[in-house]
Amino acid sequence: MAISKSLEIRSGGICELCSNNQSVIEFTVSPKEDKIENQVAICSVCEENLGNKNARDHWQCLASSIWSQEPVVQVLSYRLLLGMKDQTWAMNILEMVDLDEDLIQWAASFYESASVHMDSYGNVLESGDNVVLTQSLKVKGTNFTVSKGTVVKKIRLVANNMDQIEGKINDQVIVILTQFVKKN
Ligand SMILES: [Zn+2]
Repeated sequence: MAISKSLEIRSGGICELCSNNQSVIEFTVSPKEDKIENQVAICSVCEENLGNKNARDHWQCLASSIWSQEPVVQVLSYRLLLGMKDQTWAMNILEMVDLDEDLIQWAASFYESASVHMDSYGNVLESGDNVVLTQSLKVKGTNFTVSKGTVVKKIRLVANNMDQIEGKINDQVIVILTQFVKKN
C-alpha cells in the first residue's frame, strides 16, 4: 500500500524500522485500524523479511527502532523481536527495553490465538483429550490434592476461557488451568 502524505512526513520518507531505505509501504500493525498512529512506514527490504527469523543481520536494526519515539514503531519492533526470541540477540534487546504494558500487549497479541486452548507446551487441546497434570494441585473447595502426573481423561474445554478446562478427578468435575497440564 502506498504511503499517506502524513506518514511520509512523519517518517521523513525513510523506513522507520531499518532507516536504510526509502519507505514505500504503509504497514498497519494488527489488530488496529488503518490510522497513522497504527501504521509504520517500511521499506521493501523490511517487508520481504517480515516473518523471516533467519534474517538476523537485517533485523539488527530493531535494536534502534525499538527506541523510536513513535509507539507504533516500538510495537512492531517488539513484535518482530518476540517472534525471534528463541535467539539470544533478540532476547537481549527485549530484556533491555521498557515499554508500557499496553504496548507490550499490543505487540504480543499477534502470537495469541484467542480461540484455542493450549497445554503448557503449546499443544492444542480438544474436548475428549486426556491430559497429565504437570504439578500437584489443591482442589478448591475440597480437602484433596491431586498429585503431579495424574491423568485426567476426556477433558472438556471451558468455552470463552482459553485458560481453563474441566475434567473428572475422584468422580468430581473440577476446573483445571491449562498451564498445569500436558496433553497425554
Ligand atoms: Zn527497512
